[in-house]
Amino acid sequence: MSDHRHRVETMPDLSKNFAEVVPALRPKEAIDEANRCLYCYDAPCIKACPTSIDIPSFIKKIATGNLFGSAKTIMEANPVGASCARVCPTSELCEGACVLNGASRPIMIGLLQRHATDWAIKNQAALFQPGEKNGKRVAVVGGGPAGLSAARELARYGYAVTIFEAKEKAGGLNTYGIVSFRLPQEIALWEVDQVQALGVEFRTNTRVGVDVMPEELLEQYDSVLLAVGMGAVPKLNIEGEELDGVLDAISLVEETKTKPLTDIMIGKKVAVIGAGNTAIDAATCSKRLGADLVQILYRRTEKEMTAYQFEYEFAKQDGVEFRWLVAPTKILGENGRVTGLELVRMQLGEADEKGRKKPHPVPDSAFTIEVDYVIKAIGQERHIRLMEAFGLDHGNGIVRVETDSYRTSHPKVFAAGDVIFGGGNTDAMVVDAANHGKRAAQAIHAALTGQEQTVS
Ligand code: SF4
Repeated sequence: MSDHRHRVETMPDLSKNFAEVVPALRPKEAIDEANRCLYCYDAPCIKACPTSIDIPSFIKKIATGNLFGSAKTIMEANPVGASCARVCPTSELCEGACVLNGASRPIMIGLLQRHATDWAIKNQAALFQPGEKNGKRVAVVGGGPAGLSAARELARYGYAVTIFEAKEKAGGLNTYGIVSFRLPQEIALWEVDQVQALGVEFRTNTRVGVDVMPEELLEQYDSVLLAVGMGAVPKLNIEGEELDGVLDAISLVEETKTKPLTDIMIGKKVAVIGAGNTAIDAATCSKRLGADLVQILYRRTEKEMTAYQFEYEFAKQDGVEFRWLVAPTKILGENGRVTGLELVRMQLGEADEKGRKKPHPVPDSAFTIEVDYVIKAIGQERHIRLMEAFGLDHGNGIVRVETDSYRTSHPKVFAAGDVIFGGGNTDAMVVDAANHGKRAAQAIHAALTGQEQTVS
């Protein structure tokens, strides 16, 4: 008891480490920045946005003080535009395409987008209205960015939409999986509220395939959209994985977003296995939970890592260390707890079908490092069982859809988001999922009304 009291009294305030790192623009800064925009004809920034937000238009509205109109322009094109303002790799998308690159510096499109959507959040602006009811029902399986975007559009077309969400809250990755210091949970939940305000029914804590069967949905709804995202982090399949102190990146980030922060990592040594954006999130989270040493261990090199460059830079600034060309072979422990990690050095060999060089172990190169926590961030499993329960064709867990129509091999089922994304060398972006959801909703509407689909 006295120990516990001592810990509580001396625990540093970690919550400040989880406050948003990028400051918002002040109103005058936003107007000055908006006035730098050239409002280009045939603007390349629009083409570089997967959801085709009319960027010059929303920027112009900021310049003229019309923040409601600006937020509406953003959210019209991208139903999770407030989250995307914070998490999009803008330097690789809109800002990377801005004509002012080179001449001076690109317009800070992400921060302007955040300025307008933050205004809408603060002022509880109701941006959209539901469409007149058309008597048809659509089930959306998964309430993440793709599912929410689709539901929002379908509600505006007049469909009665039900979202089936396994978690307690909707929002998916934006609500649970992106660190608070980049995306506070209330932003994602505002986007959920926007969709709920259109009359979309949310059946949370409900797993399709367990609590509700696919056949019921196929029977009761005119269309079903599968937008379940990704599953759990797979096993490393090495000895010692059951020890206390072995965590997975997704659960760690989720805990920091849903539970009081704990002091379990203060002064500890942490190894993160993997080098994607989730690995970076887990590593920076660990640092901000007070870990002394955080190392990202990756079996390839810096060149092959899938994390965005800005994420990589951010992790380095947070003091995260990177060790390339190493792979874990055994987790070491004592009394049921992790104490170390056995690693083997790797070397790159021939390229695989995607052009990425395959890593191979260097013979007799094993060595050990001391660690207190091992965090797995080696990708996520796919919901193959659910795809098969719906009777959908898939290739290695990627649902096959008709190009541009998002229709699966089952005539009543469409799919969007991570379930159809694959084959690239990077993770799916939130903005891609939002775009899939929006396009899939258009396709469902076209199919249910017998219209030709118009994908603009
Ligand atoms: Fe403005 Fe740059 Fe887009 Fe042109 S490309 S409209 S300057 S943000």
